[in-house]
Amino acid sequence: KQIAELIAAGEVVERPSSVIKELVENSVDSGASVITVEIRNGGITFMRVTDNGCGIAPEDVPTAFLRHATSKIVREDDLDAIGTLGFRGEALASIAAVAHVELLTRARGAETGCRYTGGGAEAPSLEEAGCPEGTTILVRDLFFNTPARMKFLKKDSTEGNAIAGILDKIALSHPEISFRFLRDGKEQLHTPGDNKLSSAIYAVYGKEFYSTLLPVEYELNHIKVAGFVSAPSGSRPNRSMQNFFINGRYIRSRTAGVALEEAYKGSIMVGKFPACVLHLSLSLEAVDVNVHPAKLEVRFVNERPIFDAVYHAVKSALAVGDK
Ligand code: ADP
Ligand code: MG
Repeated sequence: KQIAELIAAGEVVERPSSVIKELVENSVDSGASVITVEIRNGGITFMRVTDNGCGIAPEDVPTAFLRHATSKIVREDDLDAIGTLGFRGEALASIAAVAHVELLTRARGAETGCRYTGGGAEAPSLEEAGCPEGTTILVRDLFFNTPARMKFLKKDSTEGNAIAGILDKIALSHPEISFRFLRDGKEQLHTPGDNKLSSAIYAVYGKEFYSTLLPVEYELNHIKVAGFVSAPSGSRPNRSMQNFFINGRYIRSRTAGVALEEAYKGSIMVGKFPACVLHLSLSLEAVDVNVHPAKLEVRFVNERPIFDAVYHAVKSALAVGDK
């Protein structure tokens, strides 16, 4: 049993950033308006995610840590479901298999909350505890019981940067939520949660980038493209600031990236790259999407409409910017 747990856990928990991704997605799902993430040593020794969401009733807490236990309805036609289908109901179980876990939670409207501890081979314990509404999960000493995995971890700074990168994407996909990220006690990100994409971008990428933004608002063949692109003067030395979201979820799409860069051809120097935060909204039946569960890479059965929508959306934003 123990070995099987560890193997299954390996599929979900590869490094600290995969833990953060799962925990923060749970907090988003809980309806939270404020989510705080704290890490130490690149997350390896300490990760804590706090939300003000719906919380978990004490009787449901042990179940939440069972594999394949999910309180969420899985709709296969939902990109979000497809994207994480393999991991449905597996995150908490997997994390608890390879780390010490402490959960503090109070369901909305409940008199008191509870504290659950467990992880590794430790016997779980559950007791009543006073706490604010919402959930806090503390994950300590990741891979303490799986030295082979521990060996594959990179430097603290590299693991910490991976976490920061993931939080940037999640913050940009949820401008309605205020995210705060503390790394070794220092605040690295704080989005206001005012439901404006531009505010989230300002918080994530800073004032200088913000000042080069051109708005994008376009629709072609039932594909909506909205968000911001950098003016040619705001171009970058690499592609790290090219962000695409489909129906609210961060994805990687080669086609969207190529369309973006095609639209800038002739207006920026060779070796420089445009930056963008673009949300695509579309009906998934229409484009037939394939999502790799772990890699975020999206392929469309017909890539052409995606290319056209992004290309023309960006072109028209640049044309307005030129005036
Ligand atoms: P999944 O998210 O796929 O359902 P998880 O293992 O990530 O599976 O979580 C198991 C269950 O624990 C969730 O379905 C949810 O009911 C509960 N849960 C986990 N995190 C939170 C949270 N931050 N707030 C409220 N409920 C949570
Ligand atoms: Mg989850």
